[in-house]
Amino acid sequence: MLSAPVRRILAAVTLPAILALSSCTAGPGQAIHARQVAAGQSNPSTPPSTPSIAPSAAPSTLPSATPSILPSATAKPAPGSLEWYVSQVPTFPEPPPPQPVLLPPTTDTAPFWHRLPTEQKVAFITIDDGGLARPPAVADFIWRAHIPVTLFLNSPAAEEHDVYFRQIEVAGGVVESHTINHNSLAGRSYDYQKREICGAADKLETLFGKRATLFRPPFGNHDATTLRAAHDCGAKAVFHWSETVHEGKVRYQTPEKVVQPGDVLLMHFRPALMDDLLAALKAIHRAGLTPALLEDYVR
Ligand SMILES: [Zn+2]
Repeated sequence: MLSAPVRRILAAVTLPAILALSSCTAGPGQAIHARQVAAGQSNPSTPPSTPSIAPSAAPSTLPSATPSILPSATAKPAPGSLEWYVSQVPTFPEPPPPQPVLLPPTTDTAPFWHRLPTEQKVAFITIDDGGLARPPAVADFIWRAHIPVTLFLNSPAAEEHDVYFRQIEVAGGVVESHTINHNSLAGRSYDYQKREICGAADKLETLFGKRATLFRPPFGNHDATTLRAAHDCGAKAVFHWSETVHEGKVRYQTPEKVVQPGDVLLMHFRPALMDDLLAALKAIHRAGLTPALLEDYVR
């Protein structure tokens, strides 16, 4: 039923995070400690043994959208429940071993890509912003279905809701930078753009312990100064997107209406994010591709 056996978990699980989370989530008799065996591991070739993990062992400290019901062999999950979302995830082909793309040999500017320049049969899910809505089951869904996601966060939202985003990080997500104030950068001074990009990257590094290596400008708006400032703030690449997903619908930017290898799907932290994740997974599956983690391809 689950796609887990043929997918590789991409989580980098840290001991303090697991301990902090498990201390909040473990109720009497729950199987939360199954997660702790992964503490300290960050090897993406070592997937946790998902089938042994009870649903309650997910990284959420927030109230779950659904009660923690142990699955029975016959019960059909209620539509809209976490179990239902997990049950709807298609089974994907094994992802190919990632071949990181060659970065352009320039030394003072970051490349700008609508899609990753690769022919490997993968596509990438990205989730932006963070301030508007944060559906509570998202981290559990990402964990349970092994969905590789990159989060382009505004740093004030990341700071205000750091526990929520840390849960997604524990589930396998990677946090990247999306400025502080979400203003359009094109046409602004180098100093302004650098303040927005570096300021967010600095804050995210403080919050999550890792420097952002990718950047997405708000609204996709950018100019040459943006790419220079992003480079100077540590970004290896600046990403636009090739499809958007909103309220469970994929909107293609090309007439073929199919996800292409290397495509980057954009969605946001909005109320329908669970549906958006599912729609993206189905679209990637229809295209014969497998979702992969952007950071495995841009190193
Ligand atoms: Zn945005």
